[in-house]
Amino acid sequence: MKLRPGLHAQFLLMMGGGLLVVAALIALLLHRQGTMQDEVEHISRVAMSEMAGDSLQRRGEGTVVQLADSLANPMYYFDLDAIGALVKAALRQSDTRYVLVFDANGEILHDGTDEIRGYGRPMTDPLAYEAIKARRIHTQFNDELMDVAMPVMIGSERVGGVRVGYDLGAIQATREGAIGDLRTRLDDLGRRNVTWLAVFGAGLLLLGLGVSWLVRRSLVQPIRALADAAREIELGQLEPGDGGDRRLPSSARADELGDLVRAFGRMRDSVVRHDRDIRRMAYTDALTGLANRLAFREALDQHLLCLHGAGRELALLFADIDDFKRINDTLGHDVGDEVLLQFAQRIRRVVDRLGGGEAMLARFGGDEFVILVESDAGTGHEGDARAVATRLAEALVTALGAPLSLQGRQVFLGTSIGISLFPDDASSATALMKNGDIAMYQAKVAGKNCYRFYSRAMDQAVERRVHMEQELRGAWARGELSLAYQPIHRLSDGRLVGAEALLRWQHPELGQVAPSVFIDVAEQSGLIETIGPRVLHAACRDAVHWQRARPGEPPLFVSVNVSPRQLRSGDLPQVVATSLADSGLDPQHLHVELTETAVIGDEILAGKLLSRLRETGVKVWLDDFGTGFSGLSHLRRVPVDGVKIDRSFVADILRDPDDLALTTAIIAMAHSLGITVVAEGVEKEGQYGLLRERGCDQAQGYWLGQPMALEAFMAQLRDDRPLPEPAPRTVLDKMLDRG
Ligand code: C2E
Ligand code: MG
Ligand code: MG
Repeated sequence: MKLRPGLHAQFLLMMGGGLLVVAALIALLLHRQGTMQDEVEHISRVAMSEMAGDSLQRRGEGTVVQLADSLANPMYYFDLDAIGALVKAALRQSDTRYVLVFDANGEILHDGTDEIRGYGRPMTDPLAYEAIKARRIHTQFNDELMDVAMPVMIGSERVGGVRVGYDLGAIQATREGAIGDLRTRLDDLGRRNVTWLAVFGAGLLLLGLGVSWLVRRSLVQPIRALADAAREIELGQLEPGDGGDRRLPSSARADELGDLVRAFGRMRDSVVRHDRDIRRMAYTDALTGLANRLAFREALDQHLLCLHGAGRELALLFADIDDFKRINDTLGHDVGDEVLLQFAQRIRRVVDRLGGGEAMLARFGGDEFVILVESDAGTGHEGDARAVATRLAEALVTALGAPLSLQGRQVFLGTSIGISLFPDDASSATALMKNGDIAMYQAKVAGKNCYRFYSRAMDQAVERRVHMEQELRGAWARGELSLAYQPIHRLSDGRLVGAEALLRWQHPELGQVAPSVFIDVAEQSGLIETIGPRVLHAACRDAVHWQRARPGEPPLFVSVNVSPRQLRSGDLPQVVATSLADSGLDPQHLHVELTETAVIGDEILAGKLLSRLRETGVKVWLDDFGTGFSGLSHLRRVPVDGVKIDRSFVADILRDPDDLALTTAIIAMAHSLGITVVAEGVEKEGQYGLLRERGCDQAQGYWLGQPMALEAFMAQLRDDRPLPEPAPRTVLDKMLDRG
């Protein structure tokens, strides 16, 4: 780990450095003080020596001058007693070591002793030479002595001299005493200084420690708290329970750090707020406000984790609105949103009533809603998860089946619900949701607007569908797909005018597969984009055969179904053009059938494509007309040549006056727009007669002719006769129709 000095450590280091500098300065100061004391002592000593020497010299010289004066006479008379008296008097001075009176030759005349021990001896001490030679007062020093010599003159004749030796030891003793005194005082002063410096140093140390404590408390600790809080934010520990320390940094300080702490607090609050918003957005469905897929998935995982081994059961209900796409396509997305909102509210109410407190509701996007309920979860009703789910599903189907009021009209929509159970059907969240989806799909297959529980057999159904898709992929190449043709007759004279091409699949194992099944598979898998053009191609080619088989007769048209996906792929006009060119079919003998939903899903694109088709002469028919929600008003925006009234209307025109009225209205309005009307699913003569009576242009259906293979159709062409006029309809007919 890399050692990182913190703010406090740095400060302490800095302070330590400062204290060291101060200590060094103090040491220097003390050293200087020592040398200064020594210097003072030395200077004092020198000064004192000089002063004492000077005064001694002055005193000595004064004394010697006087003595020399006084000696002149006794020496003249050679009066040794008088000389001796003077010398002894001089010797009485305490610091006088010797007094020597000598003659002109430098030999001693008197030395102050009674017996004059040195008499007549020449002076041999080191200072004698200078003293004897001196012509006037002469002072000289050695380590111990000051020797002052003075010639004794009588008139101008030098008769000898006198030398007085002063002891310097006394002066030195006095000087040392004074120096000692000075030393003591200086030492005293030094000690006082050291004490003061020590106090100063200690004060400085205390100050440093105080400042350090203050820095730690007022700077380092708040900054550290901020850093800790920032680290928690960085780790995403924003809410209680995230594992973070909840103490938020706060401060009442008026300084910059207080500002910083407060700004940090505000920033943290806004981060928490934004985080909460983001989480809310990430976990809720914007339209309905319900939980979304992500939230549901997490809750489910959590639930399963808690439930493991607890012996409780869960049921997942997967609800999908039937034909919701049609609402979006025909009434627009705003209405679609409105439907989803109303559905969400209804589901919420049912779940609140029957799902229990633990129930969870989510929207998975699109028209899928998912509900999770627990067995016996405080619903007030007895039962396991299956029983709770059954009650809920029944109530949902009823509640969601009730009419919706949209833009002033009533619309009926159903809901298909799939239910999967934990732990019976699945042990993981993914499998539970997948099985719910499979069960929902089976509810759709079973006729929609109902609910189904998941069973293992459903997996096989899904497998079958996947298998079917694989089989369908090579079906055309293997020659399993073929076209059947269903005749279309003109009602005014009963003549055959054309035929609808209907795709058939004869599978070696599955047998004849219903178009409603495999066309759906082809549409959803995208296979229709390769099969569709082939159908178109084959139908055009076959139609040319018909024309050749009936020379001189009015040509028959062929009507080909085109799926929504083919239209959306955008290259339909291109495909149609190549089919026509390759077969040589006259464009006006080709009709293209599109369902309402395919056309109305994207009216602008569809309008453009259809216009391009119609410009080439191809006719466009709207198939299964009336099953969508589009009114005839859409026909103004989307250019079509004909509409095919769905067989569900035709089936009931004999019984249901509403259906008859609607069919009659469609015919009238279509005619007013110049659009041809074709009736599908004519199974009875009565229907044929009635449609003809109401002015319908053309019809197809089992009564007129079943879909048949090309050969059968060609055979029928050869003995083509108009249909007989239907007998006028009687009351009895109408009753029989009803039977
Ligand atoms: P559609 O285009 O509405 O075709 C008419 C359907 O009604 C055909 O069903 C036909 O057999 C059936 N039908 C005709 N007359 C009667 C009758 O009197 N009573 C009853 N109950 N039914 C009658 P089919 O052949 O099963 O086709 C079902 C749907 O499959 C077609 O409905 C069409 O939408 C689609 N389809 C068929 N062939 C193709 C194709 O080549 N391409 C595309 N995209 N769709 C196709
Ligand atoms: Mg059709
Ligand atoms: Mg149809």
